[in-house]
Amino acid sequence: MSSKQVIKLGEESIPIFQLSFNLGSLQDLDSCLENADLQQHAATSRSILIQLLVSDTPFSPITHLYERFAAKFPSADIIGVTTAGEIHEGSFTAHRTVVIFSFFARSGLQVCSRACRAGEEAQLGLDLAHELLNAKTDMPIKGLLLYATNRRIDASGLLGGLQGKFGDAPLFGAGAAAYVSDGTLWVFANGETYTEGAVIVAFRGKELEIEVHSYLGWEPLSRSMTITEIAHSTSIKTLDGIPAAEIYEKYLGISDNERFFEHMLEFPIMIDRQGYLLARVPIMRETNGGLRLVADVQAGEQVRLAYGNPKHIVIRIEDIQRKLGKFRPEGILLFSCYCRQIYLQEAVNLETQAFQHFAPSSGMYTYGEFYGQGEHLYLHNATMIAVSMREGQEPQESASPVEESTLLPETKQMEMTSRLARFIGVVVEELEHANLELREMMQTDSLTGLFNRGKMDRLLQQGLEEMEDDNPLAVVMLDVDFFKQINDTHGHLVGDEVLQQTARILRRHTGEQGAAGRWGGEEFLLVLPHVGLNDAVRLAEQIRSDLEQADFGEVGRLTASFGVTAAVLGETTRRILKRADEALYAAKHEGRNRVVAYEG
Ligand code: GH3
Ligand code: MG
Ligand code: MG
Repeated sequence: MSSKQVIKLGEESIPIFQLSFNLGSLQDLDSCLENADLQQHAATSRSILIQLLVSDTPFSPITHLYERFAAKFPSADIIGVTTAGEIHEGSFTAHRTVVIFSFFARSGLQVCSRACRAGEEAQLGLDLAHELLNAKTDMPIKGLLLYATNRRIDASGLLGGLQGKFGDAPLFGAGAAAYVSDGTLWVFANGETYTEGAVIVAFRGKELEIEVHSYLGWEPLSRSMTITEIAHSTSIKTLDGIPAAEIYEKYLGISDNERFFEHMLEFPIMIDRQGYLLARVPIMRETNGGLRLVADVQAGEQVRLAYGNPKHIVIRIEDIQRKLGKFRPEGILLFSCYCRQIYLQEAVNLETQAFQHFAPSSGMYTYGEFYGQGEHLYLHNATMIAVSMREGQEPQESASPVEESTLLPETKQMEMTSRLARFIGVVVEELEHANLELREMMQTDSLTGLFNRGKMDRLLQQGLEEMEDDNPLAVVMLDVDFFKQINDTHGHLVGDEVLQQTARILRRHTGEQGAAGRWGGEEFLLVLPHVGLNDAVRLAEQIRSDLEQADFGEVGRLTASFGVTAAVLGETTRRILKRADEALYAAKHEGRNRVVAYEG
């Protein structure tokens, strides 16, 4: 039984009371239902959440459990989910049912649940959000608990429907799990079982505080690679154009064998989603050489291989202390990935027990963890999500220090591997940075900072290849008038400054519509995808007039001549450049400081 929180009735602050039971038999269930603390709290709480975390319990099906709890606690909200192991008061327990009671003195609960057909996950998210937000209450939502059957529905679609709807209230929870791939799997809410669906609980209350932390522990190691092809949202087909599993063969010498999953736990994939690092552990090798995952990826996303050994992954007590010490939770829910349970083995209890030091901590091992807020709701993997709740007043004093003995022994060897992994990670990062600089240097003109001729040629080629019937492309070629005189009168350095100022004007006008480059000497080129001839002429005219009015310091005023043309579907870069050049020549010939356009 949990370390009890003291209830002082009639006083200002009545904390959340969280108590969990580990049920292995009908007798356990009977004694749980008769527990005196539960009866007392039920009588004085505003709301009660009962969570049934179930692995396989032949002794009592969920409907039976529900009926027993509902009869005893008629005002409680009762939800449930299948697991790949439960966490009872900080410790792992297998093939049991853990019941978590959360009593709230002042906060309210709202439970919504629905079935979901494949392909309608986003709509499910929208419907659940709509129902929650239309409740007739002015109690603010402080957090959301989500259980979903991730294995059977697209959880990323569901999160897409929920995102951005609840301000900065955190969303957390778990994908229903089973020990074996064909095991029973469902979520449950107030009498309804869903084999394909989701349950969401909104925690509401002015005094309620919820703080969520995620812990991963693996570190990115390899260079960044691009997901070039996916088979579906949880299967990577190719990375940088080669079958994804071959990456493991190439960099780590890992081939497909019976220890494949074990290796994947050591070197999972990590994606960077808008600055959030998310692990993606491959669970098997597909027949096409791809990698099957538990959570979603998108084509075009950047990934790295990560590294972690159990000893440096396990959450350090200091990390937990640092994050929870000030908050002083009254109850903690833990959603930890099945991957951690398998990979950390006996160390897995060290990290979960460390939470119990702060407050009663119970939860489950998942098939994917939910955590995020606002627009950033993500399906995590290999992660531990710790949800701390407090309803009472903010504590005055800081938490007591934790005994050192709960720390894992640090061995020299472990230190070396961790440092080596870190070293490789940093070197790779530096190399990538240097590569990026080199690539930029190779495509820019050093005097003006505009693209150079080679880059402009490639951009034009690319633009022509992407052209379609109703999707035009135009180029503008311009040349400063009587530039030689400027050099002759004011010197080369002043001539250079004029070119730089001209480049700034070009860049400002081109903006997002296209690319500006230095074609050579005092000649410039603009490549404008999705722009037709008339719009290109209009743009050239604006630039011409701007240049004419600009103050070029000691040089005073200058002008330029423009040749404009639109591309014809299927023509070569040579042809289009020749036509632009001819139009520019005509502009010079007709007296300079003007725009001449030639149709394709
Ligand atoms: P037009 O109106 O016919 O274009 O006359 P122009 O004097 O501009 O034509 P011309 O092509 O004869 O002169 C271009 C000059 O630009 C010649 C060259 O010395 C100068 N030039 C080319 N590159 C640079 C550079 O990087 N810096 C400077 N300062 N001058 C350059
Ligand atoms: Mg010139
Ligand atoms: Mg010239």
